Amino acid sequence: MMIKRYNSLSDFLKNKFGCKVFKVSLNAGLTCPNRDGTKGKGGCIYCSSEPMMPLNYDDKMGIREQLYQGIEYIKQRHNAEKFIAYFQINTNTYAPISSLKKFYEEALDHPDVVGLAVSTRSDCVDNEVLDLLAKLAKEKFLWLEMGLQSSHNKTLELINRCHTAEDFADAVKMADERGIHVCAHVILGLPGETKEEMFSTARFLANLDIWGIKLHHLHIHKGTKLEEMYKRHEIKPLGLEEYSNMVVDFLQEIPEDVIIHRLCGDTARRFLIAPDWSVNKFIILDNIHKIMKQRNTYQGIKMRVHCELQTVHS
Ligand code: SF4
Repeated sequence: MMIKRYNSLSDFLKNKFGCKVFKVSLNAGLTCPNRDGTKGKGGCIYCSSEPMMPLNYDDKMGIREQLYQGIEYIKQRHNAEKFIAYFQINTNTYAPISSLKKFYEEALDHPDVVGLAVSTRSDCVDNEVLDLLAKLAKEKFLWLEMGLQSSHNKTLELINRCHTAEDFADAVKMADERGIHVCAHVILGLPGETKEEMFSTARFLANLDIWGIKLHHLHIHKGTKLEEMYKRHEIKPLGLEEYSNMVVDFLQEIPEDVIIHRLCGDTARRFLIAPDWSVNKFIILDNIHKIMKQRNTYQGIKMRVHCELQTVHS
């Protein structure tokens, strides 16, 4: 049964592990095939690695040092007990399999780490990588995060993702076949997308066997191609109300058992160009919760209506 109006990751982890679970960000020092020329150059137009860099990171630190330091820091601030080791920055399956094995095993080698999360691209998960992750998933809780951003190939081309929605669906299928949980990343408010197109991304995901979804609003980081477009007045980010309503509409289309990892992005002011409201995640979340309450709506409510209508007509 849902405690909130949506199925949040924090509630899921609390139920599973009996206490609040915190993520520790780790940097394996990998790059991305969309930057090094293998798939593309320059990366996705919104991408900037800097805001995701683990706190106090320096490039001489190995995984073990980052992990122990990160855990100590979070323990002191939050009285935390359990952790998910999280490879968030860049493409964390883009290395020889022996290196990946070492990274992941080191990340799990702490008595308070209860799981592993690995963020990557759908075109960087072959059989070998998925077999390794499936093996680890038998021993520890694990999920794989993959960027979809939009189910519309014209948008993926515009934002320079250098993969298609079909590539994403194929990778989800390969992971599902091995019992690996997949969390999809989606951005709402991408250039040129209509509301109906954003809802159809929700329906695209609802029809895949997705375990989790992470929603972000389009926010413009310093030093990105998006910043140049913004300064040329080629794009206009969504307003807070518009975005919050979009999230609520989006959640209505997502099955209620899908775990919602995030409802928005948040960025420190020093990295941000626009929109201004991006700097306070709590205000955004409050607004989304308030709208859900006002509209008396829930994650998956539209799916229930579709099912009821189908039953009536059958
Ligand atoms: S968003 Fe991901 S895929 Fe795109 S350039 Fe950045 S790291 Fe690479």
